[in-house]
Amino acid sequence: MIPSAPVTRFAPSPTGELHLGNVRTALFNWLLARAGKGRFLLRIEDTDRERSEERFVGQLVEDLRWLGLDWDEGPEREGAAGPCRQSARDDLYRPLFERLEAAGLAYPCFCTPEALARARTAQMADGRPPRYPGTCARLTPEQRAERLAEGRRPTLRFRVPPGREIGFEDLVRGPQVFASDDIGDFVIRRADGSAAFFFGNAVDDALMGVTHVLRGEDHLANTPRQLLLLEALELVAPAYGHLPLILGEDGAPLSKRNGSETIRALRDTGYLPAAIVNHLARLGQALADDPGLLSLEVLAARFDLDRLGRSPARHDPQQLLHWQKAAIAAATDAELWDWLRGRCFADGHCIEDLVPPERALEFVHAVRDNITLPVDAHVWAGDLFAETGHHAPDARAEILAAGAGFFAQALACFDAGSGFRDFTRDLSAATGRKGRALYLPLRAALTGELADPERGSLWREGPELGRLWPLLGPERIARRLRLARDVCLNERE
Ligand code: GLU
Repeated sequence: MIPSAPVTRFAPSPTGELHLGNVRTALFNWLLARAGKGRFLLRIEDTDRERSEERFVGQLVEDLRWLGLDWDEGPEREGAAGPCRQSARDDLYRPLFERLEAAGLAYPCFCTPEALARARTAQMADGRPPRYPGTCARLTPEQRAERLAEGRRPTLRFRVPPGREIGFEDLVRGPQVFASDDIGDFVIRRADGSAAFFFGNAVDDALMGVTHVLRGEDHLANTPRQLLLLEALELVAPAYGHLPLILGEDGAPLSKRNGSETIRALRDTGYLPAAIVNHLARLGQALADDPGLLSLEVLAARFDLDRLGRSPARHDPQQLLHWQKAAIAAATDAELWDWLRGRCFADGHCIEDLVPPERALEFVHAVRDNITLPVDAHVWAGDLFAETGHHAPDARAEILAAGAGFFAQALACFDAGSGFRDFTRDLSAATGRKGRALYLPLRAALTGELADPERGSLWREGPELGRLWPLLGPERIARRLRLARDVCLNERE
């Protein structure tokens, strides 16, 4: 099911970087908006002045753009629903606070954080759920004036109506029912005058015309509060859908400890946006006849609220690597070179410094099936173009096993004009070796590497030798065959 022309939003609090968990929320709301030819808004929930940081706004804008998740209204694109930052919406909130207070639906609360903490501890010690004890719910106007005169700055609390049942149809989880008696009066305006989360979040959805909200299951318990608040303000509530949490490999909710990486870290490691988007699109959504890597547009066309599952989705890093391979396979050589060229590594080398510019596309073409992350391409670039004379231990063992005679034969069969096929045919005839017995010592000598699971992600065999041959060029080939022969000779001494 896809509603027609839905208005959805992503409403991050700029208190940290975007990571896999919250970007999945952004993606699903984006997909829903695009699927129904609606609108997608980006709202910055920055009313918590202590924890919000401007740099995180800049970062999340950049990260979402990099992923291809564009917005119809939001930062750098204000529109009729704006301002998109909650910190700029005080003028919209003020009359609503006043209305609630005038109607007795909200009241100032002078309780100190310490008093609230004491009440909570006492309630929990009695085995009761912690809830606002109602201390300030029935202060007389005189008592309020007295406290204000003492210079105390109150919060504003919403008065939760007793004895109500709050039901709603969750877009993902189906019918939900909550009892208002389980909900304590909650803060809607902080003592510093800023709108608290419950208020800003719910009111803005209504004022901005948001029709559908997909968000993490951790917000489910907030929804009845927000519905009561919107009802008191006679505002239209959006339809809410709560997405199951993403679990890490250990089965615990995905967090920094168990594999939730920030989008920035994934990007720095070299993950492609298409890989991240395709991975996330399948966490909590079962695609019909899943055909493999899809563009954002196709993912949107296939998005369906009925396909959102209720059971927790597990983030498997191997799956992300699978999508990364698929994204590489779908990119052109030129796109891959753009992705690789500027990357530098701990050894101080940058890919661009190793690969001669005129060989760049040829290089990418030769190694593209054998790389998952830029670090893999870096290893190949080093093996092919840096003259280190180094053999990895397993390559050295293979060279020594083949022996000086093999490489002497190889040098005899090689001349500058040899194509790879002619060369290996002649060498096979001269040595009687075929298949792996022929190719492994050659690979070891020419690249200094054999398959090495320690060095890269999803490392398997190296690129086909035939593809590497023209990249290496006759001089390097001859030099490396001689080096291998000499290694064997020196070992014998
Ligand atoms: N600012 C909230 C958060 O980042 C938004 C929750 C929502 O999507 O409603 O968790």
